[in-house]
Amino acid sequence: MKCPFCASMDTKVVDSRPDKDGTAIRRRRECESCGKRVTTYERVEELQPLVIKKDGRREPFDRLKLISGVQKACEKRPVSSETIQRLADRVETRLQEGSDREVPTPIIGEWVMKELHDVDEVAYVRFASVYRSFKDINEFMSELQELLTSGGVRPPRKR
Ligand SMILES: [Zn+2]
Repeated sequence: MKCPFCASMDTKVVDSRPDKDGTAIRRRRECESCGKRVTTYERVEELQPLVIKKDGRREPFDRLKLISGVQKACEKRPVSSETIQRLADRVETRLQEGSDREVPTPIIGEWVMKELHDVDEVAYVRFASVYRSFKDINEFMSELQELLTSGGVRPPRKR
């Protein structure tokens, strides 16, 4: 680690201990060139990305909550719980492999919709009606109309 005073690369750790609440390691380093000391903190990086709720609150991604939402949409539909688990796996992986550490809930909703779209049309529409905030009933109806006339489900139009 570079010394902030003289930019020498030769610093050594002279003391290392956990901080008070145990979430970080506090290290005292001494520069071998100028002798000055600095303190560094090492923290475990949060692995689980945070979800940004509508009201701006952040919370850890909740897989069970996602699954229960999808289950509700799939009620009485021929969708196995294994299919739902796999869907949740893919959404979770996407969240973890993405570069964003914070993802707004509507984005996750869009991912789920895309997945459901390939699984079951009715579940897709049910989920979409809850998670995609249709501006009004007309927008929702035109979405349905499109479904009926095209004979298949299309992803919602981008706004
Ligand atoms: Zn130095």
